Formats: sequence, C-alpha cells, structure tokens
Amino acid sequence: MSAQKEIPLPLLPEGVSLIDTHCHLDMKAYAGDLEQVLARAAGAGVRQVLSIGIDLESSRRAVALAGRHEGVFAAVGIHPHHVEGVGERDYEELRDLAAAPRVVGYGEIGIDLVKQYAPAPLQLEHFRRQIRLARDLVLPLIIHDRGAHKEVMAVLREEGPFPAGGVMHCFSGDAALAREVVALGFHISVPGVVTFNKAETLQEAVRATPLDRLLVETDGPFLAPVPYRGKRNEPACVLYTAQKVAELKKTDLAVVARATTANARRLFRLEG
Ligand SMILES: [Zn+2]
Ligand SMILES: [Zn+2]
Repeated sequence: MSAQKEIPLPLLPEGVSLIDTHCHLDMKAYAGDLEQVLARAAGAGVRQVLSIGIDLESSRRAVALAGRHEGVFAAVGIHPHHVEGVGERDYEELRDLAAAPRVVGYGEIGIDLVKQYAPAPLQLEHFRRQIRLARDLVLPLIIHDRGAHKEVMAVLREEGPFPAGGVMHCFSGDAALAREVVALGFHISVPGVVTFNKAETLQEAVRATPLDRLLVETDGPFLAPVPYRGKRNEPACVLYTAQKVAELKKTDLAVVARATTANARRLFRLEG
C-alpha cells in the first residue's frame, strides 16, 4: 500500500470499527512489515483481524500470531489445495491447536475445482472430515468454494445443521446462491472483488443478502480492492470493500461497519 498517501482510505466515524474476517497474516508477503500493516489497519479503524490457516504449518503460525498481537484471532484447518498427504497426526495436532484460546473458527476448508491442486475426491473427503471435526470443536466453519458451488452446497446440506454457524468466505456466487447460503444459516463474506468493474453478479448477490448476514474480508495478501487492484492486499483495505457494500446497499459506511462488525463478533464469539 505504498500509494496510500495519494489515495486516502475511507474514514470511519469515531468509535466505529471494522473487522477483516479473512486474511493470511502469516504469509511471506507480510514478513517484512507485519507490525506496520497491523498499525495501519488499527489506525484506519480495522481493529480486529482473523488470520486463517491453509495447512498445518500456517495454522501453527496463525495461532502464534494471535497469541502475540492484540486484535488478531486465528482459524486452523487444511485448505483444499493442501489436503494431499494429510493424515491422522495432522488432525490430532489441528485438534490441539484449535483448543488455543484465540482460535475462533475452523478453516479454511472446502472444494476448489478451478485449480484442482489436489484430486476432487480427496478434497471432498477432507472437507467432510474437517466439517465433522469443526462440529466436535463447536467452531464456526470458514468455507472456501471456488468453482464448486453445487458440490459445496450438497455437502453442507448433507452434513448440517451447524449449531456454531459458518461463513462462505470470498463469496463468488450469484444472488440465488446467496439466498441458499443464508437459508442454511451461514454468513456471506464479501471480498475486495466486489469493487471490480465486472463484478456485477457479486454486487447483485450483496444487494440480495440481508445486512445481518454479511461480513467483509480482504483475503490478503490476495485480491486487493480498487484502487489497489493487483497490488498486495492488507487489512486496512477492507475499508474500500465496506465502502462498496455501503454504496450497493444505499447506506452509509458506518452502518455497514457496525453491522458487519456485530455479525463477526457474534459468529466468531470475539471479545473486545
Ligand atoms: Zn479461500
Ligand atoms: Zn484465504
């Protein structure tokens, strides 16, 4: 965000804050300046960030970061890209990691049929297994669905209900899918993609989703919103996403911030 001085962040009113519900703070992209990244976020009103695991190693790092930084919480889990070779011992350790006090969600887990780094049947097997583990742990599910709307919804329908709830992170479906997700009791997390010119389908889905089911996220370091599209994404940038949601909902940024923050606090049972 080197150009931040030229393009100011949207301003939140005094006392209103935002939560970046999905970021990968442990990734190399932040290795050199994580303190500044978190300070910039807090200064802009983004006071809480969930750092999400994608494999055992990043889950360990997310838990460690949550222990070190006020305002950082963790989720642990194995991303569909990384399920190959994952076995009993990994799940034992994930279960232990999940017991750490600042682990507030299980994920990210799901199905990715766009990249297919792991065979689809294996993705499916680990998705189901982790859904059941998350239910045992009474943690909300953080779901990654890329090019797999039908498959993910079929699994959720079979494996539900989910008393601890969950979220479709980086939502990429249309309004009809958004309604189905909400009917299952899940939340929809809006990524920076919503600010892109050609994101009409996602924008329509946001309009169709009640404010009390929306969350906002960066998925940093990926998917930076306009005006940082193509650059490194970071938690402060969630302000642009919230601003766009406000525009789509024909309301104020403060209204969206209050609602999405209350939703995230409730779903992930965050303190503070
Ligand atoms: Zn994801
Ligand atoms: Zn992610």
